[in-house]
Amino acid sequence: MKIHEYQARQLLADAGIAVPEGHVAETVEQAVDTARAIFDEGASQVVVKAQVHAGGRGKAGFVKVVDSIDSVKEAATFMLTNKMVSVQTGPEGLEVSRLLVAAAVDIDRELYLAITTDRSKRTNTLIASAEGGVDIETTAHERPDAIIKMPSHPVDGLQPWQARQIAFDLGLKGKQISQAVKIMLNLSKLQVSSDASLVEINPLIITPPTEEHPDGQVMAIDAKFDFDDNAIYRQKKIQAFYDPTEEDPEELRASKAGLNFVALDGNIGCLVNGAGLAMSTMDIIKLHGGDPANFLDVGGDASLEAITEAFRIILGEEKVQGVLVNIFGGIMQCDRVASAIVSAAKEVGFTVPLVVRLEGTNVEAARDILQQAQGELPTMQTADDLGDAARKVTAAVTAA
Ligand code: GDP
Ligand code: MG
Repeated sequence: MKIHEYQARQLLADAGIAVPEGHVAETVEQAVDTARAIFDEGASQVVVKAQVHAGGRGKAGFVKVVDSIDSVKEAATFMLTNKMVSVQTGPEGLEVSRLLVAAAVDIDRELYLAITTDRSKRTNTLIASAEGGVDIETTAHERPDAIIKMPSHPVDGLQPWQARQIAFDLGLKGKQISQAVKIMLNLSKLQVSSDASLVEINPLIITPPTEEHPDGQVMAIDAKFDFDDNAIYRQKKIQAFYDPTEEDPEELRASKAGLNFVALDGNIGCLVNGAGLAMSTMDIIKLHGGDPANFLDVGGDASLEAITEAFRIILGEEKVQGVLVNIFGGIMQCDRVASAIVSAAKEVGFTVPLVVRLEGTNVEAARDILQQAQGELPTMQTADDLGDAARKVTAAVTAA
């Protein structure tokens, strides 16, 4: 589960990590009022930032540092009325319904700091770079030596000596070192205690020297967190951050029905029982030149209603030009799937080609149900095995 930057900033602040104060605005007027209060407190610049579950906002024009109320108005209007398209959103972009308005800080250096679970090392790994900011992906790709990685002990966590080592490797000096060490250790504790699969601060900045802070201040001005969905049940504070408007509407509907659904870009809707079978179904569709529109695992023992809902979701998608049902019934009874096909046919109608491959428990009863409903299923073909099914659905979609 992902959260918004303003929520991540709250978690960082609660964990003792310095973050400039900011407020959420949902309208241009709110953004202007917040900015006015920040200017009145003496700030010379404010930053207006779109709150969406995707990065790359700076380059997309959805992070703006401005110095007047008119510019705040302009930036807020632009962000709330245009979809944000960045490298992380896909071409359709994301609607922005919330903004963060914060006092802008002066920046001397931008660093990168993250902790994620490295499955190959079976432990959490801290990732840091002296070259943080909006080009970190390019840096990581072109100059992997600019990225520092420090695996921590799976039980004892990140140790102070490791954090100090990283601080030196980042070229920090004087009081910057103790500030950065504290941030790294706090971030490590926060990652473990919140069951986060990723905590990322980019950029972690160093402010220019002042009389009060001759070595500058180290603080987080952007953060992105991702949490392990399997642990959310025990993370009450994180649960409260859940924002369903940021989820894919079909995926949200599917999860409410207890279905495992991932939307994809192709045109063949798939309904399968079991994640492994769903993966191989997608592979075999690809092998025959087709392109899956979704991954859908109805699970072992889905109810008639849940399977019918699965068909509603698949058939409701405009891009779907054909449907492949592949059931290997063990716990799942094939006749239940057949009944769901019939009720979906009555309710929504299969106007696109439908290829059904059923095998296993109650398959005879299932065949009878489909046979009797043939009038309602004019586009249905049955298949003997998975290869046959993939061939038929791909051919039908190509012909259509
Ligand atoms: P992202 O592009 O979605 O990662 O958004 P960020 O919050 O990281 O902002 C992108 C870039 O905008 C940062 O790397 C900074 O260079 C700049 N930026 C963001 N906030 C401030 C700020 O308060 N002051 C200044 N001077 N620059 C900022
Ligand atoms: Mg950033």
